[in-house]
Amino acid sequence: MKYISTRDNSQSVSAAEAIVRGMVPEGGLYVPESIPSLDKAALGEMVDMRYQDMAEKILGLYLADFSAEEIHEIVNAAYNAESFDSADVAPVVKLRDGLYVLELWHGPTAAFKDMALQILPHLLVHSMKKTGVDKEVVILVATSGDTGKAALEGFKDVAGTRIIAFYPDGGVSEVQELQMLTTSGSNTYTFAVKGNFDDCQRAVKEAFANEALVDAVADLGCQFSSANSINWGRLLPQIVYYFFAYMQLVKRGEIALGDAIDFTVPTGNFGNILAGWFAREMGLPVSKLVCASNANDVLDEFIRTGVYNANRPFLKTNSPSMDILISSNLERFLYLMSERNGQAVTADMQALQKDGKYSVAPEVLARIQDVLASGAVDEAGTLDEIGKIFDECGYLLDTHTAIAVRVAEAATDGRAMVVDSTANPYKFVNAVWQGVSGEASGLDDLALLGTLSEKTDTPVHRALANLTDLPKKDRRVIAVADINDAILDVIKNK
Ligand SMILES: *Cc1c(COP(=O)(O)O)cnc(C)c1O
Repeated sequence: MKYISTRDNSQSVSAAEAIVRGMVPEGGLYVPESIPSLDKAALGEMVDMRYQDMAEKILGLYLADFSAEEIHEIVNAAYNAESFDSADVAPVVKLRDGLYVLELWHGPTAAFKDMALQILPHLLVHSMKKTGVDKEVVILVATSGDTGKAALEGFKDVAGTRIIAFYPDGGVSEVQELQMLTTSGSNTYTFAVKGNFDDCQRAVKEAFANEALVDAVADLGCQFSSANSINWGRLLPQIVYYFFAYMQLVKRGEIALGDAIDFTVPTGNFGNILAGWFAREMGLPVSKLVCASNANDVLDEFIRTGVYNANRPFLKTNSPSMDILISSNLERFLYLMSERNGQAVTADMQALQKDGKYSVAPEVLARIQDVLASGAVDEAGTLDEIGKIFDECGYLLDTHTAIAVRVAEAATDGRAMVVDSTANPYKFVNAVWQGVSGEASGLDDLALLGTLSEKTDTPVHRALANLTDLPKKDRRVIAVADINDAILDVIKNK
């Protein structure tokens, strides 16, 4: 299977090439030229599969240039008992009849980004060998907090790679920053950028497209790649857990094989929910995918109106991993919803860059609304939901998942509803405390971990329990305009 550009501006490439490149050099994102489908018999065979077996099956359908042995090796290097503290990898928890949470945070950094970033480095290293890349790969990551740590952790000490994470100064939680600064590994670098997440993401995308910079980096024996969800190698592994969640419900007798269910996904860059769309398109019985936004509700508005308008204040919320106005993976979805009309996508992306907005044709909007529903929750609603679900179900939600559960409750349409839980509650401990207790803690994040655990009888995630004991790197703060220099500095000072 080959991969093509969302902007019809480039030759098709193999999966390995798409993964090494991260994004289409001419601009645009790689999408598979066709989408494999699984019939009911094939779905039936998956009911009893372990997570790893399901991952091998699904990855194999998309990675035509990888052997079954390679995929086996890659999958088992990522999803094992050392990295994930649940034998199921992504367990499903029942909140009440018809409402379930898919816990995607059992990996080493307590966020769902581990589901993809534990496997991406292995995919990338194999892809480099296949495509004959002999340069060192420099991974650039723009992060609103969770991707940075998950990518640093995934790539640390991976031979032939070096990773640089850029995060908004003051735009991530104290725990998130400390997690990044305590990453070990001789090939990991972090910079706080004086700007917001969109500034970081834009600067990283511009670095990829900057020919002079790319040439300078090549002269130093390096080439860029991306660990953001614009890389197909990050999106692909996320398809797996939609199948896994469904099969768990079948296995437990909550639904029958073939019953349609819904998913609600706390959404930022649109990677996670897009993976759900791929699962649906492959034949998984999913009716609606519900997109949950925080107060930065640009996606909710787009899904309701067909107008994408990023011209609005960027709000910092207590769900920072969803504080995004430019949602990168939406480009892939637009392409797929417009019957692969690369020209229309190119025009929309140009309008977005120039005017900060675009709108889609009525028939495209109709197709989008056929699959997606949406909702948005503000700060107060987020905290209220954390308190409510703790009182009603004794289950502790993080801020992102709380938004999704609230949106899910409003969107439920009689079918079983699975909510993707994207972070462990201790990552956002102060907001969670406030939600549960109704008042601010007055403590800093680290001091509050144990207190929240006592109050709620919920264990602290292992990734956060020992943070203060780890050696910490210096915090380096740079201006947005200095990102390219920072990259060159890192490469020169090996
Ligand atoms: C990254 C992230 C999201 C958003 O996921 P996308 O794939 O970017 O839409 C939601 N919640 C948490 C906790 C995250 O880390």
